[in-house]
Amino acid sequence: MTPSSNTAVLDLGRQYPEWQPWLTVIEEVLREAQDSQWEASFAEAPESQESKVPLLASATLSMDITAAGRWSERLVQAAYRSGAPKMSTLSGVQHKRLNTVDLFKASLCQNGKWLHDAALELDLDVDAFQAVALLIPVPLLQACSRRWASSIAESWTEGYCPVCGAWPAFAEVRGIERKRYLRCGRCGGSWQAQCLTCPYCGMTDHEELVSLVPEKGGSNVAIDACKRCLGYVKAFTTLQGSAPANVMVDDLASVDLDIAALEQGYRRPEGAGYSLDIKIISKPGFSERILSWRR
Ligand SMILES: [Zn+2]
Ligand SMILES: [Zn+2]
Repeated sequence: MTPSSNTAVLDLGRQYPEWQPWLTVIEEVLREAQDSQWEASFAEAPESQESKVPLLASATLSMDITAAGRWSERLVQAAYRSGAPKMSTLSGVQHKRLNTVDLFKASLCQNGKWLHDAALELDLDVDAFQAVALLIPVPLLQACSRRWASSIAESWTEGYCPVCGAWPAFAEVRGIERKRYLRCGRCGGSWQAQCLTCPYCGMTDHEELVSLVPEKGGSNVAIDACKRCLGYVKAFTTLQGSAPANVMVDDLASVDLDIAALEQGYRRPEGAGYSLDIKIISKPGFSERILSWRR
């Protein structure tokens, strides 16, 4: 966890003491995301990016499956020990019955149906399991963004993340030039966006796009919503963008805007903006290498 994300999480905990269980889970993710071992799953950055296709779209990841399994067990454990009643059902996650590769793939690709069915099969609270499982690949995604961010095509104008295909967590209107960027809450990515365009359905008719400015929050925040698809994105005017590791926390810290948007009938789309087709292959981990030497 970086010092600034640590401070941000502590601030949130003071502001919303009732969120402490969930913040414990987020802290675990942010700490793991700093581990450079995840970067070893990626080959060299792709030389160029096809239009509309996220860099991860059909990547083959070479992962230390044992280490990935240990990480997902640790995160689930942090969740059920956190004290939130719904998350306590996650103590029933039997990792032996969950294939690490399948779980990682479903979480990476935001495959809600797979996670939903797995939760029912293991008799877990569906919402709690989905929320925690979707965080499992975040350290891997942040490592991917660190390695590959320089390969993002400058011409990228899609509403979803050019690295991992997720929908944006929020928009930033940066600096005196007021350039608009979208930010990914999963990999921390950042990409320039077209102004006055709905990131979800591409609507450009200004009669269909509304900007809601909440009473509280000042002139630096707004909810940009689309009357056609009923999607919305929070927008912050800022001098500098959030650090990649802080996007997830800054998204959480502005939950008041999400509540205001929901009350107005707008929502964020579920699932991914682009369906990834990832292949995961096993890279022998340290323990496996020792075992094979002994044979
Ligand atoms: Zn992303
Ligand atoms: Zn729209």
